[in-house]
Amino acid sequence: MSGGRCGDAAPEGRARSGETDCEEVIDRLYAFLDEELSAEDEVDVPRIQRHLAECAPCLRERDVEVVVREVVRRACAGDHAPQSLRVRIMTSITTTRG
Ligand SMILES: [Zn+2]
Repeated sequence: MSGGRCGDAAPEGRARSGETDCEEVIDRLYAFLDEELSAEDEVDVPRIQRHLAECAPCLRERDVEVVVREVVRRACAGDHAPQSLRVRIMTSITTTRG
């Protein structure tokens, strides 16, 4: 008999075993994607990458941010995208993922 439990898609849960905090990762994610980390921060890059590999919520956050940046870049080459556009893109992505 199949006793599979539905809905438990993230067995790892939040990877915050005292090493890298989700908040810290998200906080640095933007600088990380911008490649604007200082020499000091670069030490954290492997930690961020490792955390992303273990933490589904943060990985999804990263994916969304990457997609948003790509779409924004194409939508308004060179120009800074208005916040409203970002919000709309974010919303459409999260809505699509259901
Ligand atoms: Zn995390």
